[in-house]
Amino acid sequence: MPSEMNRPYNFSAGPAAMPEEVLAQAADEMLNWPDASGKRCGMGVMEMSHRGKEFLSIYTQAEADLRELLAVPANYKILFMQGGGLAENALVPLNLSALKEDASGKGLADFVVTGSWSEKSHAEAAKYCRTGLAATGKADGFVSIPDASSWQLSAGASYVHICSNETINGVEYHTLPDLKALGSDAELVIDFSSHVASRSVDWSRVGLAFGGAQKNLGPAGLTLVVVREDLLGHALDICPSAFNYQTVAKNDSMYNTPPTYSIYMAGLTFQWLKRQGGIAALEAANLAKADLLYQAIDGSGLYFNKVQQDCRSRMNVPFFLRDESLNDAFLAGAREAGLLQLKGHKSVGGMRASIYNAMPLAGVQALTAYMHEFERSHG
Ligand SMILES: *Cc1c(COP(=O)(O)O)cnc(C)c1O
Repeated sequence: MPSEMNRPYNFSAGPAAMPEEVLAQAADEMLNWPDASGKRCGMGVMEMSHRGKEFLSIYTQAEADLRELLAVPANYKILFMQGGGLAENALVPLNLSALKEDASGKGLADFVVTGSWSEKSHAEAAKYCRTGLAATGKADGFVSIPDASSWQLSAGASYVHICSNETINGVEYHTLPDLKALGSDAELVIDFSSHVASRSVDWSRVGLAFGGAQKNLGPAGLTLVVVREDLLGHALDICPSAFNYQTVAKNDSMYNTPPTYSIYMAGLTFQWLKRQGGIAALEAANLAKADLLYQAIDGSGLYFNKVQQDCRSRMNVPFFLRDESLNDAFLAGAREAGLLQLKGHKSVGGMRASIYNAMPLAGVQALTAYMHEFERSHG
């Protein structure tokens, strides 16, 4: 049944549902923002100078809260940028491909393609550097992650790019690869757009992580980059100044005007995440939600999911009806039952339930109850 504020459950892949407490707090603060002591400053957050003390306090708190939540080590910079995940597909090679240069002066980056997003990253990077395809799961329809021991890693690559959660295909790394153990001295770059803050990150294996905020952190418009300090300062000459990680880092993400309102909303979300008990508590809750949904799918005669058990996403759960002629009826009934945006991505078809941090267990219970009832009445 509907959530506390009587809204339906929203399973959108992104922009996605946000915690209701966060939306309510933002509504209360919209016209006249209060500081930590509760004193109202006479302005809304959208109207503040990004260099004023009010916004700087919001920014500093957001950065500190995120650093604490994700246990980001002190030698990593947190950058609040714009452009989204797709812009990062260009910005990462522009900034990192020349970490190591060969005689041709052109850097090299390797890609492990496990779905639509890493496929896009691979194609975009080829505009800026040489690329290698270390492995791809395309032949079997992106339902598994090629075993890291089989990856064809190029000698002299600056970095290896993976998408640690494929939002469309529902494929997630449950352990990040250890490139050093694989005999590579390349940096690992992860696109964690759709599972950031749903689980912990082993930073010892990661050189750079990026993600758009609109899946699991806040509204669209904010792009998070976490990068180890020693990787800064290698950008290609053609890299736009506003997107040079070193320039952004030196200016505390204020070389140009940052997406102030999106940072504020993400900051409120970080505080909400802390109130939930932090990342360990969220990871346990996310695991419970995903288990419930996959069990309902696997245990049914009508629904199925194609992804191998060991790499099923906890955040994005695609599933299909064995009788596809029932798809429209399933979606219409779901809407009536207060379950929104379950239609699968157009490239994959079927259904997809995105169950990010803001989706309560009760929402997944409502979905599985509806699925069960739909199967019973259409069996
Ligand atoms: C949504 C998404 C992107 C693209 O983000 P934009 O903000 O639309 O550019 C990239 N990678 C992954 C894994 C995503 O889920």
